[in-house]
Amino acid sequence: MALLNILPHRLSQRLTALYFTVSSFSLQRRPRTTQTTTMASMTVTKIPALKDNFMYLVVCNATRQAAVVDPVEPDRVLEVAREQGCKLNQLLTTHHHWDHAGGNEQLCERFRQHTEWGTLSVYGGDDDRIAGLTHRVRQDDTFTIGQLRVRCLSTPCHTTSHVCYYVESEQQERAVFTGDTLFLAGCGRFFEGTPQQMYDALLGQLATLPDDTLVYCGHEYALQNLRFGHTVEPDNEDTRAMLERTQAADLEGRRALVPSTIGQEKRINVFMRVHQPSVQAFVGRQTPLETMQALRAAKDKF
Ligand SMILES: [Zn+2]
Repeated sequence: MALLNILPHRLSQRLTALYFTVSSFSLQRRPRTTQTTTMASMTVTKIPALKDNFMYLVVCNATRQAAVVDPVEPDRVLEVAREQGCKLNQLLTTHHHWDHAGGNEQLCERFRQHTEWGTLSVYGGDDDRIAGLTHRVRQDDTFTIGQLRVRCLSTPCHTTSHVCYYVESEQQERAVFTGDTLFLAGCGRFFEGTPQQMYDALLGQLATLPDDTLVYCGHEYALQNLRFGHTVEPDNEDTRAMLERTQAADLEGRRALVPSTIGQEKRINVFMRVHQPSVQAFVGRQTPLETMQALRAAKDKF
């Protein structure tokens, strides 16, 4: 996929669409069932898409207003929104890659066909590669989904305009949608950024959120990431326990491990643990930044 970075954007979007379409058809056990977390103030539904992507429907329970994160399969999202009887009017884009933003145009088109649905606000980083944007967001910009407060976290590295969305309520419930920046036990590739930028995103921003913040990431990569984490830190008991849980879940075809939490990621995610002597020793580096760089290179070859 790295080759796509040097192709013109339009062409690379088409090739990516083809790649994901072919790989999702070839996947035998694609999980299609949704999984819902119901809190007092908000309901988050994880909707599997393509081969291993997640789309998320976020509903404010008090108002039934809803937003969707990265709706690459818009009609599937609309189906779930209908089932839940919520009012979907906001689209949150984490980054421009086709498997995240590739459904923007189509969802906008559906809203143009159904004027009775009202307007669709489309949020995302300031990037012309993202279709349909009505709100170009920057660091610490805020908006609401009903009564839920959303704060935008600018996290460039995987792409230059990557944004994570931190959602919290009066009732102190919180979730963060991390796209391809933070995964369960892993992080995204540094396609358009530096180790310093990933360090700032993971340690400077995401790790400072409350430990009980639910982490909803863009892909199901838990098993591969935990295998790598276990190789890096064979004595980390939290990683070992989570790897065993993940293997069991994988065998059952459930893959129900997302959401993680910020607290859990600090214990098991080696990219968030670049200060630890155990992690630095694995790559033979002495500073967190050099460790971040060497760890990503090691994971790319793992
Ligand atoms: Zn991506």
